[in-house]
Amino acid sequence: MNQLLYKSTRGEETPATSARAVLNGLAGDGGLYVPVEIPRADFALTELPAMSYAQTALRVMRLFLTDYSDEELQRAVQAAYGDKFADPEVAPLVNRSGAWFLELFHGPTLAFKDMALTILPHLLVTAAQKCGEDREIVILTATSGDTGKAALEGFAGVAGTRVVVYFPEHGVSSIQKRQMTTQEGENTHVIGIVGNFDDAQAGVKKMLADKALAAAMAARRQMFSSANSINIGRLIPQVTYYFYAYGRLLASGEARPGEEVNFAVPTGNFGNILAGYYARCMGLPVRKLICASNSNKVLFDFFATGIYDQNREFFTTMSPSMDILVSSNLERLLYHAGGGDAAQTANLMRSLSASGRYRVPESLREGLDAFSSGFATEAETALAIKDVFESGRYVMDPHTAVAFSVWRHYRRQTGDHSKTVIVSTASPYKFPADVLASIGAGGDDRDPLALAEKIAVLAGGRVPRAVRELGQKPVRHRTVCRKEDMEAVLRSILGLNSG
Ligand SMILES: *Cc1c(COP(=O)(O)O)cnc(C)c1O
Repeated sequence: MNQLLYKSTRGEETPATSARAVLNGLAGDGGLYVPVEIPRADFALTELPAMSYAQTALRVMRLFLTDYSDEELQRAVQAAYGDKFADPEVAPLVNRSGAWFLELFHGPTLAFKDMALTILPHLLVTAAQKCGEDREIVILTATSGDTGKAALEGFAGVAGTRVVVYFPEHGVSSIQKRQMTTQEGENTHVIGIVGNFDDAQAGVKKMLADKALAAAMAARRQMFSSANSINIGRLIPQVTYYFYAYGRLLASGEARPGEEVNFAVPTGNFGNILAGYYARCMGLPVRKLICASNSNKVLFDFFATGIYDQNREFFTTMSPSMDILVSSNLERLLYHAGGGDAAQTANLMRSLSASGRYRVPESLREGLDAFSSGFATEAETALAIKDVFESGRYVMDPHTAVAFSVWRHYRRQTGDHSKTVIVSTASPYKFPADVLASIGAGGDDRDPLALAEKIAVLAGGRVPRAVRELGQKPVRHRTVCRKEDMEAVLRSILGLNSG
C-alpha cells in the first residue's frame, strides 16, 4: 500500500509520517496535521454488516496509519476495544422515537472521548518506538470535564507515559470531578485550578510552547505530547463508528447498501463531526452531517453566514462539553473545503488570533455543502429530553439532546426524512441533575449517586459501574493551585528544578 503522509493545515512544512504526526500532536508551524489525501474505503459497504467494531476499526485505520503494521494496529485495537467497553457491541445503535441513537458512551468514562482515548495511548507508544523516541511522553491536558478523565483512564499504567490534567476546580460537574480525583495509576496527576476552563487551557498552551521548559524536560529525557483533538491520532479512530453505524443499519435491513443517511452530531471542538466528514469523503453514503450547537452557536452562525466570530457572550449550559467558542478542528475543514490551500488557512487563522473573527471566501463556502447546522436553546434541550423519555422511555444526556432537537427542526424545515443517526456522546448517568430536572423529576445535585439511581429506575436500566464505584473509591488527587502556579506544580511532578 502507498504511504499516506500528513501535512500542516498552515504551511509548507515537510510532510510527516502518520507515526510522527501522532507523536508531535501539533505541527511545528502551529497548524494541525491533515492527510495529504483522504483515502477511499477499500472495502465494499456490503462487507460492513459482518464486521465487528474492532474489525471495522482495523479496516478504517489501516488506510490512514499506513506506516503502522497490521499487527501493530491489531494490538492497539484489541487493547482498546477488546474488553474496556461495557457493551459487547462497543457502540450499539438503538432505535427509539423515530431515530437511531449511536451510543458512544459505554466506555470507561461514559463519554464518547473514550472511543479515541482508549486507543490513542497505544498508537502513541507505538509511534514513539517507530520514531526511535525513548523519552518519557508527558501528556499535558486542560479539560472542561470529559477529555481529562478519558485521557487519565487511557494513559493510566501505560509504560513510558505520564498524564497531567488541569481542570477548573469549580467548573465541572460533581460526578466529573470525582471521576478525576479518584483516578488510579502512578503515572496520573490531577490538579484543580482556581480559575475557569479558559485559564486552564491558556496555562497548558503556554507550557507547551515554553522553550526553557522543553529544554529542562529534554535534559531529563521527557517530552510533551497532546491528547486533545488537535492530535490526528484522536480523529482517525473516530471515523470508525460512522462506518460501523452504517453497517448496523444494513445488518438490520433498515437501510439498503448505498442509501444515504444523515448523522446529527453534538459539536464543540468539531472533532467528532469532522471524523464524519472524513467517512463521507471515503465513500460512506452520508447525505448531511447535521452540526448541532447549544447556545454557544458560533458554528451555526459560521455555516449560516461564512463568518466565524468568537467575540460574543459565553454561556454556561447543561451541555458543558460543547461550551466552546474556539472550535479547533474547524481549521481542518477550512483546509479541505478550501481545496488544500494552506496559505489561505494560515491567513484565516491569523485573522482569528488577531481579531477573533474571519470571513471565508464564497469558493470555500461551496465546499461546505455536506453540512447543515442548527442550535438548541436550554429550553429546547430540556424539552427534547422530556419528549424522548415520554415517547420512547429513552433517557438522553443533554449533549445528545441538543443533536436530537436540532435534527427535529431540520426535518421539519427541510422535509428531509432520510434515516438519521443521532450521535450520542454521553451517558445520562453523567449528568443526572439536569436530566432529571428536564424530565420533571428533579432532585438534589449534592447527592449525584442517588440521582443516578433515580435515572436507572425511570429508564429501567442499571447505574453503570463507573458511576456506582465512585462512591467507594478514595480521593487520590487533592492538589489545587492558582493559575499562576501551574508550571511550578508541573516542574515538581516531573522532578525539574524550579526554573
Ligand atoms: C467533547 C464532547 C462533545 C463535543 O465533541 P467535539 O469533538 O469537541 O465536537 C460533545 N458531547 C460530549 C459529551 C463531549 O464530551
